[in-house]
Amino acid sequence: MENGKPTSDIDWRQRAADLQPDGRAFIAGKRSDAASGQKADVLNPANGQVVAQMAVCGSADIDRAVSVAREAFFTWSRTSAVSRKQILLRFAALAEQHQDELALLESVDTGKLIRQTVEDDVPSALETLRWYAEAADKVMGEVPVVPPGATAVVSREPLGVVAAIVPWNFPLDLAVWKLAPALASGNTLVLKPSEESCLSILRLAELAYEAGVPEGVFNVVTGFGADAGAALSNHMDIDALAFTGSTKVSRTLLEASARSNLKRLSLEAGGKSSNIVFADTTDLQAAAEMAAYGSFYNQGQVCSANSRILVERSILEEFEGLLKKAAAAYAPVDPLSGTRGNGSLITRKHTDNVEKWITRGRQDGEIAFGGERLEISGSDAYLEPTLLKNLPREHPAHHEEIFGPVATLQVFDSEDEAVALANDTVYGLAASVWTADLSRAHRVARDLIAGTISVNTVNAVHNTTPFGGFKQSGFGRDLSLQAFDNYTAAKTTWFQFD
Ligand code: NAD
Repeated sequence: MENGKPTSDIDWRQRAADLQPDGRAFIAGKRSDAASGQKADVLNPANGQVVAQMAVCGSADIDRAVSVAREAFFTWSRTSAVSRKQILLRFAALAEQHQDELALLESVDTGKLIRQTVEDDVPSALETLRWYAEAADKVMGEVPVVPPGATAVVSREPLGVVAAIVPWNFPLDLAVWKLAPALASGNTLVLKPSEESCLSILRLAELAYEAGVPEGVFNVVTGFGADAGAALSNHMDIDALAFTGSTKVSRTLLEASARSNLKRLSLEAGGKSSNIVFADTTDLQAAAEMAAYGSFYNQGQVCSANSRILVERSILEEFEGLLKKAAAAYAPVDPLSGTRGNGSLITRKHTDNVEKWITRGRQDGEIAFGGERLEISGSDAYLEPTLLKNLPREHPAHHEEIFGPVATLQVFDSEDEAVALANDTVYGLAASVWTADLSRAHRVARDLIAGTISVNTVNAVHNTTPFGGFKQSGFGRDLSLQAFDNYTAAKTTWFQFD
């Protein structure tokens, strides 16, 4: 809604045509080209058109950003927590005034529905920013019990210069999950967005500076993983690296930390989450609608997508019918039409990769619905929501992350079998369970190995609850007060007085 006007009544295509996004980096409170002068096209995957030029930063730019962040750390870490809170609240208020612009930048950069960026992505990023701003002066230490004649104070200290590297699937939200707790607890930041989605984050950094976040506190370096990303992960003067992205890149970051200065890592990596539907589920219609949401929302490009749907045999036919109807709501549309549905995938190349899974599913099993690639607004980066079934139990489609609108359907006969199937993955990010049996809900939630278990819903996520993985989904937690553990360390100061 904008001034009471529904999203669908706004001419987003015209607004997109009038946009002039700036893809230059943001270092020390100013926009800057890469030192090398290199640039790369930023494409709108929904129509294949160039929307901006991104600065391709390399190690010289990273060195400069880290050096200004180091300089700013001295003052920012000594700014009172109450003042940091007030500055971050002003930042959130200014970002709110620009929320339609941020939502449009995010949509033209990623192919997401404007309806989703206006109604979900940007409001949730602002809520998280405010939540951590409010928490800035509530990061408490301890006064432990020590022998007589002494007092010890354990304080939570900011780490210094933090690097954040984030992916393209929820650019603003995932950037805010890192930047808000890092800045609130007194660190300074060098953030690298994905090469596929830099525009909204760059604008956000500019707004932070306009709202009073001091120069050098929040820098954004644009560019590719192999150079800008690697320069950050190997840097000798970065104290911590907060990452969201694939398990593959997570491994290179661990190696880089070991090779360089042992910078502290928090890794939010890949996932392959199950959604278990028991026959005793009271509202099968709701379970089917949420199963479709859990698999296909955001074109299925969700780390915790519940894309392995496990259904008890006695309700398989009925559930499959309801799921097919619910999946229709995720048919692709032009993202700027203002209507509901799904947008484009992030790139044509990624669409090719996801389409290969559909081809494989057709060969080795059956397509229960969907399966087609579509052309909309001059781009063929669109896929129908697709359900694969009758695949062998060991099929890679059940185990590997597809990161597109493709789910698999499997049948089970017992609670033990359902849990075994769900845990049969190297990942451990999330899982969902549908049942009316309270004891079963507790038992299954206990036995599933994942960071978030959603019972009678999917993908539960909230500012107050930690989000992160077990197993190869990584370590460290985003969101909640636990996120401060990624950005602070305990310092003991011991006063001996006798
Ligand atoms: P990716 O790992 O390819 O890239 C993520 C970021 O890392 C990008 O900014 C990229 O430029 C950078 N990068 C790439 N190579 C690098 C290198 N060698 N050194 C340093 N940085 C490098 O992931 P993606 O394709 O952008 O995003 C999809 C992945 O992200 C999926 O695996 C998904 O599960 C994961 N993800 C996880 C979560 C979570 O919270 N666990 C949330 C969203 C996405």
